[in-house]
Amino acid sequence: MPQPPSGEPAVVIADLVMRYGDTVAVDGLSLSVPGGVIAAVLGPNGAGKTTTLETCEGYRRPQSGRVRVLGLDPVADRRALLPRIGVMLQSGGAWSGVRAHEMLRHVAALHADPLPVDVLVERLGLRECGRTPYRRLSGGQQQRLGLAMSLVGRPELLFVDEPTAGLDPQARHTVWDLLRELRSGGVTVVLTTHFMDEAERLADQVYVVDHGRVVAAGTPAALTAASTVGPQQASLSFRARPGLDIASLEATLPSGFQVLEQPAGEYAVLGPVAPGTLARVTTWCSDHDVLPEGLQIGRRTLEDVFLELTGRDLR
Ligand code: ATP
Repeated sequence: MPQPPSGEPAVVIADLVMRYGDTVAVDGLSLSVPGGVIAAVLGPNGAGKTTTLETCEGYRRPQSGRVRVLGLDPVADRRALLPRIGVMLQSGGAWSGVRAHEMLRHVAALHADPLPVDVLVERLGLRECGRTPYRRLSGGQQQRLGLAMSLVGRPELLFVDEPTAGLDPQARHTVWDLLRELRSGGVTVVLTTHFMDEAERLADQVYVVDHGRVVAAGTPAALTAASTVGPQQASLSFRARPGLDIASLEATLPSGFQVLEQPAGEYAVLGPVAPGTLARVTTWCSDHDVLPEGLQIGRRTLEDVFLELTGRDLR
């Protein structure tokens, strides 16, 4: 698939501001998505994700700031951009009485070189509901049809708004696999989600959005690794007989680590755990005839990152 010239990001947003009356939906949002990645715009309800995506798709004109998609202005260059992007809206996008396959064939016919409809129907589990009118499809089927419609034109860049909302776990994995395959084929995917596991497992780049601004950005690994390990955060934990000599265990660890027993028989090693830390803890256990049960290394999640940045959780 064609790609933007190397080095040119697929999407650039600079200081975007969007208001609905007195509501500031997007408040100086900036981000840059490299080509060929899956990028997740992650944030709670009302954070401004959909408005941002709709601006990239050319449905809304920036009230202030600048948006470029594949190097083009989504409003002024709409005719040149539309054949190159796929758009899956959060809901709707099809006539209520139209049958599922009919709708997909119609969209396919609008493109110069569409994907084979039957392949998409099979892949997205839409075979059974081909003759069902759109309004009678289940939420999950409407969702999958919307994704098929966004893909059928072989886009270089795909915008998907909450692609797995309302899907059962199996359908969710099918969608994730499909998006990964698209990335392997060179397609850039920009999705919104408020599922932190979706962002963590699927995305190469995550933009955490709150109140219309990007409050953190990076790879999931970098975002969750950025060390803000506080004194109360257990980095490694295990269960063993109560009353272990925790001062002796602490003495084997680099300075800055703390070992707690709380409640009795449950141990927490607090600090930035590295592979060597794990070796020291298990060696100490072995030397003291202790079998550490349920040994776990705690990892920060994007949910933790969001909580630290905003003081609220994502839902
Ligand atoms: P969600 O996860 O719930 O879809 P979101 O992050 O996509 O939320 P937006 O849909 O962009 O957020 O909405 C941002 C803010 O703008 C919210 O306060 C919302 O109520 C408001 N808003 C969105 N669309 C409109 C509209 N058409 N008219 C008035 N206010 C709107």
